[in-house]
Amino acid sequence: LTAGGARLLEQRISAPSTSLAEIAARHDAVGNFVSAAETKDAVRSLLRGLPDIERALSRLCLERGGPRDAAAINEGLSLADAVRERLMSEDLPSGLKIDNDHSTELGGLKQLLQTALEKNPPLSVRDGNYIRDGFDSELDENRRLRDQARKVIAELQAEYVEETNIQSLKMKFNNVLGYFIEVPAGHSSKLVAQPFSQTFIHRQTTANAARFTTHRLSELESRILGAGARSDEIEKRIFEDLRVRISEAAPAINPVASWLAEIDVSAALAELAAARGWCRPEMNDRGALEISGGRHPVVELALAKAGGSPFISNDCVLDEPSGAGPRVQLLTGPNMSGKSTYLRQNAIIALLAQSGSFVPAASARIGIASQLFSRVGAADELARGRSTFMVEMVETAAILNQADSGALVILDEIGRGTATYDGLSIAWATLEHLHDVNRCRALFATHYHELAMLSDRLDRLGNANVAVREWENDVIFLHEVRPGAADRSYGVQVAKLAGIPASVVARAREILDRLESGELEGSSRTANLLNDLPLFSSDAEIEREPEPSDSEIEKRLSAINPDDLTPREALALIYELAEAVRSDR
Ligand code: ATP
Repeated sequence: LTAGGARLLEQRISAPSTSLAEIAARHDAVGNFVSAAETKDAVRSLLRGLPDIERALSRLCLERGGPRDAAAINEGLSLADAVRERLMSEDLPSGLKIDNDHSTELGGLKQLLQTALEKNPPLSVRDGNYIRDGFDSELDENRRLRDQARKVIAELQAEYVEETNIQSLKMKFNNVLGYFIEVPAGHSSKLVAQPFSQTFIHRQTTANAARFTTHRLSELESRILGAGARSDEIEKRIFEDLRVRISEAAPAINPVASWLAEIDVSAALAELAAARGWCRPEMNDRGALEISGGRHPVVELALAKAGGSPFISNDCVLDEPSGAGPRVQLLTGPNMSGKSTYLRQNAIIALLAQSGSFVPAASARIGIASQLFSRVGAADELARGRSTFMVEMVETAAILNQADSGALVILDEIGRGTATYDGLSIAWATLEHLHDVNRCRALFATHYHELAMLSDRLDRLGNANVAVREWENDVIFLHEVRPGAADRSYGVQVAKLAGIPASVVARAREILDRLESGELEGSSRTANLLNDLPLFSSDAEIEREPEPSDSEIEKRLSAINPDDLTPREALALIYELAEAVRSDR
């Protein structure tokens, strides 16, 4: 909810911890809010209004901040008090305890800022009017002069009228004399005589009037004229004092800001955990990965939003180094079955756990990963002189050269960007290297089904596949990861689903049949293919899939006009159609 919280979350996700104690403290903090939902909601509603204390503080310390930053510190500190008070009765885990309670030291500063600053001060000191009336008497006086020059002059006039008893005495202003006191010529003798001559200084006599000034008036005049500039100056001086006070208190303010960020992140992760059914992972240093009922948080949410089929959760077990179970899992399975999703979800679960969050799984036992590597997707860096395949290889090289035995690696379809045999060989050798040399935990998705045989030779390699069901030449994706290798990729069926023209799909199927039947073996395989298959897939030459004709049900439906049906007839029709579908199957 807060800027500081967002930064902390980003920081934790970009640099997950490898310290069991630190991770446990973060999980405790999340767990605390999961079990205290009411407190969590109350704290979160307080945090919603929190300004960015850290940014304001650093601007002030660098002498770039303005009154609004000082107000942000004030608001932030007050909010921190409110949050602290709300959490007072809670038995907080160590991760949520504020390290050093500077409340007395900061209490004074808060009090000062509260009395000094206007409610919604401007951004810049140049804008003025951010110090409250009543905070500084000199400032008040100058403002009064600036804003009420006329009134102050009128007050002085009233004073002089009373003092001299000359009712016609007036204060006037012109550009030559500035402010002056004018009395009708007849009264001038009174002012030049004692006792008034001590106060009133003669300036000018006109035909009908005499003009005077006094020390007070000339002082007032220069103060009136300089009052605007002076009040700006005083405000700036007061602000500078406040700024220095805040900067001096920075060592006390910073922990408060970090504490609030921590509270925000923990409460937010607790909110997520409660709303989406995430669990607290059990962390250890044994080097295994055991996830049951794991989900991909983003795909799951997208599916839920789309309102279609639900996300299918899957388990993942990679054994510890000294165990006997698989350390590397080779995942085969049809296109679109969910291999990439599965790879990423397990990496994301490890990442979330080590960054301090609960995880989208029914349960998870995670041996701390020292490193997390992923090679997924296809991207090029043409401007940096790297083709798609080159990028893939550079990333794979980094993994093979750097991954240690504590690493968790996901590799998605290595070797796809080159010729089949080159790709297969690279994937094969990479898998062996991961297994024999890196000895890390790895999930390796591939369409090279040949690699599955390697599990006979590599004792820590396990095979898994993502199940599908075939139905009338189509595939139904079950998204369930099961032990054992897949034998097919169903690429042609997926191409059909994607809208590849029927003639292309039919042609592909024909080529695939020939290739799979083993009729076309050896180095002359492509040549044979060319000879054996019709050169062009003209409509006449390809056995096209029959255009789907209207089913009986569609015919019935197109024959009726719904407006003509009574409710009873409509219901009877639904029964009839449902029966027809059932008997068709
Ligand atoms: P390909 O081999 O073609 O790259 P893939 O096997 O890697 O495919 P994914 O890209 O992981 O498949 O998934 C394809 C789509 O299937 C996803 O976009 C998602 O909508 C859906 N999907 C994947 N896993 C699941 C799951 N466990 N439950 C529900 N839907 C899923």
